[in-house]
Amino acid sequence: MSDVLLEFDHIDKYFGDTHVLKQVSLDIEDGEVCVVVGPSGSGKSTLLRCANRLEEIQAGEIRLDGQSISDPDGDINRLRQRIGMVFQSFNLFPHKTALENVTLAPRKVRGIGKEQARSRAEELLEDVGLLGQANSYPNQLSGGQQQRVAIARALAMDPKVMLFDEVTSALDPELVGEVLGVMRGLAEDGMTMMVVTHEMGFAREVGDRVVLMDEGRVVEIGAPESFFENPQTERGERFLSKIL
Ligand code: ADP
Ligand code: MG
Repeated sequence: MSDVLLEFDHIDKYFGDTHVLKQVSLDIEDGEVCVVVGPSGSGKSTLLRCANRLEEIQAGEIRLDGQSISDPDGDINRLRQRIGMVFQSFNLFPHKTALENVTLAPRKVRGIGKEQARSRAEELLEDVGLLGQANSYPNQLSGGQQQRVAIARALAMDPKVMLFDEVTSALDPELVGEVLGVMRGLAEDGMTMMVVTHEMGFAREVGDRVVLMDEGRVVEIGAPESFFENPQTERGERFLSKIL
């Protein structure tokens, strides 16, 4: 049951002289939803970006299924097939339809045939409730719809882990629920997920564990109920007193 899928092993990350991640160690289990919270600037985005090698680390190791993925000589395309990421800004290709956005990487990176890519993309768009918008362009879709296309696009590579970095922060409040609903469905289907979010309802209800970061360190890890009801650290208490 407790198979570790993604491991951060004593990682250090610097931007110039700024020490942004300090000896961060964290194990994510297969099928786990790990919610990462913490004040702005605490290193949450950088942690996710290191896992996807959008940033390089200076010390430590990140492993997926026991194999190093932080080696700068490793195959980055292969890594990004196994770890999908969705960002605050939707980053869809504006001149491509929803369907084309979802089929592009499987066709180009994985060499999957047109028909196969299309039928898989249709399945994924159906899963996120957007099959009817398959031929729409991003500017014809709401922010919530665009973000759901972005999730379908990441899933099209059949990743083992999905990383979500504040994916609802840029949305109008009435559109947040539809995106969180898709993420909840993924979690229920057993996807392994790291989710940076300010949505504490989601953290409580969907998260298996909550990780609190502060100043580049993991300062508390706990089950949501214990973290929210009874934080074990003074920093945990202070963080919760500001947001709840
Ligand atoms: P969070 O996502 O928790 O708000 P970030 O991971 O974005 O925090 O940032 C952590 C720290 O790293 C901050 O001090 C931020 O200013 C710094 N930082 C992030 N990205 C860069 C960058 N590309 N260059 C220099 N400093 C950066
Ligand atoms: Mg961030």
